[in-house]
Amino acid sequence: MKTVRVAVVGAGVVGFSTAVCIVEALPICSVTLLAEKFSPDTTSDVAAGMVLAEVFPDIPLERQRRWFKDGFDHLLDIAQSEHAPEAGVLLTSGCQIFKEVPAEMKPFWSDIVIGFRNMTDLELKRFPNHKFGQVFTTLKCECSIYLPWLEKRFRKAGGRVEQRKVNSLQELSNNFDIIVNCTGLGSRTLVGDNQVHPIRGQVFKMEAPWLKHFIRDGDGMSYIYPGIHSVTVGGTKQVGDSRLQLDQGDSKSILERCRKLEPSLRKAKVLHEPVGLRPGRRSPRVDKELVELRGRQVPVVHNYGHSGWGVSFAWGTARDALGLVRQCLHEMPLQAKL
Ligand code: FAD
Repeated sequence: MKTVRVAVVGAGVVGFSTAVCIVEALPICSVTLLAEKFSPDTTSDVAAGMVLAEVFPDIPLERQRRWFKDGFDHLLDIAQSEHAPEAGVLLTSGCQIFKEVPAEMKPFWSDIVIGFRNMTDLELKRFPNHKFGQVFTTLKCECSIYLPWLEKRFRKAGGRVEQRKVNSLQELSNNFDIIVNCTGLGSRTLVGDNQVHPIRGQVFKMEAPWLKHFIRDGDGMSYIYPGIHSVTVGGTKQVGDSRLQLDQGDSKSILERCRKLEPSLRKAKVLHEPVGLRPGRRSPRVDKELVELRGRQVPVVHNYGHSGWGVSFAWGTARDALGLVRQCLHEMPLQAKL
């Protein structure tokens, strides 16, 4: 019997991953996902969806490794299954190149991705402005395909979906026993977290079916990521900038930078130029607290602030959030569970 009512707020890659983890693991819970915006209108839909990462300064490295590995293994299983095309997940190979040799020559995820090695001098010759590079195979998760697929999986497991803006957690206190906050940038207003800020990202989606290998400049500013229906060419990382309109100056700069890396982009057709606001935070917040709502102590689990790496870490932090919901269940008074 479903006796504990859980609300997951947010329908981006973090919200749907968390909602699926909870509904599939905890039959005692009835799970409702509420969100103002759904695919294709979330930040997650704009993401290139490459499974890569940079280090978050406040999270123990072992925890970040676990998040990354959980996400990688989960998406690899999908990529190697019959569900790959309808889930929008694929294996992708390519290189990450650096103008200067980086301090960390082996990122913490180097033994989780497949076939990680340094580039040879011969391979680097193609990029005369770069001194160092790495070659590897990772995953690309295309959220405009993946999110509808996760939603189906969530509904099939008994989850319910409601489109609505939540103006304050108080609104949920009468109808839910546990609230899971996966609102990304929305957490700035919903839970008053001033650490959360927008990091603007503008990209091109281009038609260039001859491109099969990704190229990423290690500074994270320029990248070419071939996908299922298009190639994502970017980008920008404008901290504190919340403009969703296209910036022609950014378009010009992206084309200049990326054509230097891949001259054949001159022949590519521009499909569209989306803009998204990453939920910037020094490190993601994945924890729980008791919040007094209308005179009741309500457990709230937070899972937001993944900055530029939400697709890579979504499944890993979702599993941590599931663990926190389990703890909430153990700590709840007995009558709430009956
Ligand atoms: P979102 O996708 O923003 O979802 C937030 C959800 O919360 C939405 O449904 C919203 O409507 C809802 N919400 C917010 N407030 C409320 C409220 N008050 N009431 C109800 N609902 C609310 N990451 C990678 O890992 N790899 C990449 O290659 C990559 N490339 C990127 C490229 C670009 C150009 C951009 C912009 C981002 C990229 N990212 C990448 C980052 C990634 O997109 C984000 O980290 C991720 O999408 C965050 O997911 P989220 O679910 O937390 O947020």
